[in-house]
Amino acid sequence: MAADLQPVLALPEMVRMMGHPSGKRERLALQRPRHRHAPILRRACILHQKCFHCRHARPRTFKVEEPKMAAKPLPKSLYAETARAALPTPPLPGDRSTDVAIVGGGFTGLSTALHLAQQGVDVTLIEASEPGWGASGRNGGQVNPGLKHDPSAVIKDHGEALGRRMIELSGGAPARVFDIVRRHQIQCEVAETGTLRAAFNRPGAAMIESTARDYALHGAPVSYLDRQEIKVWTGSDRYACGLIDRRGGKLNPLGYARGLAEAAHNAGAKIHGGTSAVSLAREADGWKLATNSGTLRARRVVLATNGYSDALWPGLARSIIPVFSAIAATEPLSEAQAQGILPEGSVLFEIADLTVYYRLDAHRRLLMGGRSVSRDTGDPIDYRRLTDYAIRLWPTLKDVRWTHFWNGQLAITQDHYPHLHEPAPGLIAALGYNGRGVAMATATGAEVARRLTGTGLDELCLPVSPITTYPFHRFWPLGVTIRLWWGAMRDRLAPAA
Ligand SMILES: Cc1cc2nc3c(=O)[nH]c(=O)nc-3n(C[C@H](O)[C@H](O)[C@H](O)COP(=O)(O)OP(=O)(O)OC[C@H]3O[C@@H](n4cnc5c(N)ncnc54)[C@H](O)[C@@H]3O)c2cc1C
Repeated sequence: MAADLQPVLALPEMVRMMGHPSGKRERLALQRPRHRHAPILRRACILHQKCFHCRHARPRTFKVEEPKMAAKPLPKSLYAETARAALPTPPLPGDRSTDVAIVGGGFTGLSTALHLAQQGVDVTLIEASEPGWGASGRNGGQVNPGLKHDPSAVIKDHGEALGRRMIELSGGAPARVFDIVRRHQIQCEVAETGTLRAAFNRPGAAMIESTARDYALHGAPVSYLDRQEIKVWTGSDRYACGLIDRRGGKLNPLGYARGLAEAAHNAGAKIHGGTSAVSLAREADGWKLATNSGTLRARRVVLATNGYSDALWPGLARSIIPVFSAIAATEPLSEAQAQGILPEGSVLFEIADLTVYYRLDAHRRLLMGGRSVSRDTGDPIDYRRLTDYAIRLWPTLKDVRWTHFWNGQLAITQDHYPHLHEPAPGLIAALGYNGRGVAMATATGAEVARRLTGTGLDELCLPVSPITTYPFHRFWPLGVTIRLWWGAMRDRLAPAA
């Protein structure tokens, strides 16, 4: 244990919520820096966390202000009904030690665990609810290649050598997912049917034309689709043009997350659901994670909490915007109805200020995804824009029944690149896939595993950057609301292509 840290409270006491004089509910930290206050002031200091005397020594222990003490059930998504069964993942049983501790059981954490365990590393993953509970078990199931930025921009932003490695990692990310699914025989309705992007207005069409040129320049297997061609691929006459990238595809994401968890478990990883990390403290020879069900000591720690990041590490949650995205799903469509929608089975996302994405699943259900209100909701009223838009695309869906409505949080970064951070020795954070996490979080997990098994920064396929926080982060819901309103205006007023 580091010299300036000493345990001050037993766990049950620690988890007690305290009334704070400021009116804010605040938790007690497991440890506090040693200082010279009289006991009564020391206690006040623990409560207020603002003490002048120990303000500078404090950042060695980090706590969660709004802890998730109870495992939350899965949202009532389509996947919760259709995904393969989950492996039992009991909570961390008391105090344990491991080489690598991973916080977060989504694609990032599970892929890291799998790739480490396969190399014989002793790895333990803790997840507040169950593997796949976060965005990984709720997303659109689109396995999309590439980053948000086109390849030339990636090279411009990161230089020739790293830029090319990033392009290779992200372009090959779907193939990595399909390979994992095949190798571990994961039942998740996978199909390698390609990713479409489509535009309905002039700015969107210009972006698609430029992306098509840029991807072709870098040898990606993409084809530009004109108005007639995109109509054939989508069954809708809304679009001016499109692009098909044959590397993409689709899957049932909760099934994939559960399959990853089982593959990691079979390779030797320990996976504990219902286990919330409530504080992270530096010790002499590693780290100590306090959880609601025990303590986990580890030489190295990976934070893989993405859009559900909390105060476990200072500034991490403020380095991303945890935006909500929403999905509505229909009952299985008739064959006649389905024939007119994405006949090749591809997935699609629109190039517009406000992205809409959709696909058919293995049972001919249409899954329509897009912007969401900034709160958890399963109320069909909150999904009216999506369901109305589907009818605008395919009027034959007028009388179709919408059966499932769910949403979740993903992480947007300021530069729209995924972020790898190493804010302290033996600590890695990986997050911020900007809506491309099915393939990219899987690939990033493999990169984190490479880093932890000795790969140098100059060989990694992602940059390691310092944590930079969004200014005025606490106002993000307001910012997102304004951004959505502004985006809707721009999409409406942009000239037709
Ligand atoms: C509605 C929706 C649709 C999307 N559609 C697509 C798509 O079609 N294609 C695509 O590529 N991407 C899509 N995304 C994005 C994609 O799902 C994410 O980028 C990806 O799943 C991120 O994986 P992750 O493992 O980093 O995070 P998550 O899957 O969010 O996992 C983070 C986990 O950390 C856990 N956690 C947080 N704090 C703690 C703690 N203190 N202790 C223990 N556990 C903790 C949470 O419980 C959570 O399970 C979508 C996202 C959403 C929400």
